[in-house]
Amino acid sequence: MSVIPTPHLERSNLYALLAFYLLSIFFLAVAWEFKLEATVMWVLNLPYDGDFETSERWRFVLTSTGFAVFAMVMPFVLLKRLIARLHLSYNNLVQAQAYSDSLARHDPLSGLLNRRVFHEQLAGRLEQPGKETAVFLIDLDRFKVINDTYGHAAGDSAICAVADCLREVTSGWHAAVARLGGDEFALAVTGNFSRHELATLAENILAKIASGITELPGLALGATLGIAVSPQDGTAAETLLQRADGAMYRGKKSGRAVFHFYEASFEEAQREQMRFEQELRQAIEKQQIQPFYQPIVSLPDQRLAGFELLARWIHPERGIIMPQDFIPLTEELGLIKPLTESLLIQAFAQAREWPRALTLAINVTSSMIESSEFPQWLEQITRQGNFPLAQLEVEVTENALIANMGSARMNLERLREMGVGVALDDFGTGYSGLYHLTQLAIDKIKIDRSFFDTSLKNQSDMVKAVLALGKSLHMQITAEGVEHEQLAEWLVKHECDFAQGYLFGRALPVAQITALIGADGVNGPLRA
Ligand code: C2E
Ligand code: CA
Ligand code: CA
Repeated sequence: MSVIPTPHLERSNLYALLAFYLLSIFFLAVAWEFKLEATVMWVLNLPYDGDFETSERWRFVLTSTGFAVFAMVMPFVLLKRLIARLHLSYNNLVQAQAYSDSLARHDPLSGLLNRRVFHEQLAGRLEQPGKETAVFLIDLDRFKVINDTYGHAAGDSAICAVADCLREVTSGWHAAVARLGGDEFALAVTGNFSRHELATLAENILAKIASGITELPGLALGATLGIAVSPQDGTAAETLLQRADGAMYRGKKSGRAVFHFYEASFEEAQREQMRFEQELRQAIEKQQIQPFYQPIVSLPDQRLAGFELLARWIHPERGIIMPQDFIPLTEELGLIKPLTESLLIQAFAQAREWPRALTLAINVTSSMIESSEFPQWLEQITRQGNFPLAQLEVEVTENALIANMGSARMNLERLREMGVGVALDDFGTGYSGLYHLTQLAIDKIKIDRSFFDTSLKNQSDMVKAVLALGKSLHMQITAEGVEHEQLAEWLVKHECDFAQGYLFGRALPVAQITALIGADGVNGPLRA
């Protein structure tokens, strides 16, 4: 920052100047009073009365010297003050200008370069002849979860910590480091380097970020990184950024916390992914994603007790797409709520007329169960769909519950008040659930199908323990993935309450379900 230099007048110089001035006036007055006045009057031929006392002359000398000094010093002091003030305002102005320049160039939170300036600098670097420039694009993993779970202040700390990591790791490089927005960072390094050196830099960045934030111990940070290098991957700033983004995107798809160099094949995959996202949005709007229903039977009679709603995307070209191929993406794109809403609207219209004894179980993800608006939203949409709340059951996994225990607990209480059942889904696959079971308003446990060994030899102890636990907590137990008669018999013998699996039926569209409901009770135990 440049500040104008103060016109500097040394104090001793000032006093010397004043003394000189004072003495000049004094001698001038002495000369005038004792000598010059009479001479001037004589020269001008004017009458002059020289009959003064010496003391009078001296008094006149002193008075005139005093007035002269006063007349000079006062404006001098005032002028000096004025200059000092002007100087201060000017400096403030320069500082404000420098600050606003800095704001226009830097991201205010992290202090790194902003997107625009990064672009400019990258373009400048690309014009340097005979040098390579590598663009690194760094995106934090699951940053939204940090923000949602720990609050925005923690999110901001995480951003600043990552900025510090990047500054530190790149200190030996000729690097421009920027925050492009949100949780996305970029850096450009210029020079002559090997691919191995760039890979080491990328590894260092990821390791540094993963080592966490000291202010927030326990908060796991991770990032995924993509690299594009000029001139081989492109010579324009826009192209390089886009290609680094493609490489980063590949990392996100392949499990995160990794880095990738750009490869031409990524672009096609990324385009494909974007097409898929676009189609997913449209599919939700057009209700191409439809509810299928898998039967759940009560034990020991094996009669129909209800259905679990499982989503199926009826794609006009690709056929039926299974939920694991679109639910995670739907969640990532923030579309899970509109999707669930669309599924529920369709399901309520279809299931409204089912016998009152049949429950409809729906799957709810962590982002939904965490939201304080969830119970009210569910109540409203169920009422609009004219479906009895008491027939509804919400399935939620352990992991979804522990992500935000406080709000989950309140929401489950509210669901219980509304008369909506709550089932703990995929029990045994998540974190240890015992504590949560005793703390939360859960009515049912669904034991994950991975617990049922087809040979029936190894499952017994674990499943028996869960069954005993459920009984002691007055919860009902559903066994998932029952494919064989022997398992059904084993479950009956061990007093499991409900069963679900291919033995009784796969998830089916509404037309087949209606037929099944009509037939049940007439033919006894349900079989696929
Ligand atoms: P989930 O909630 O555990 O659902 C049970 C999954 O097990 C279903 O897979 C079902 O088809 C499958 N299954 C049922 N019986 C058997 C069996 O006997 N053997 C075998 N091998 N598999 C069986 P699906 O329909 O592919 O759904 C997978 C997961 O996708 C579901 O797991 C659920 O977590 C999620 N999902 C499905 N529909 C929705 C939805 O509408 N919303 C949300 N948020 N998640 C959904
Ligand atoms: Ca489920
Ligand atoms: Ca399950």
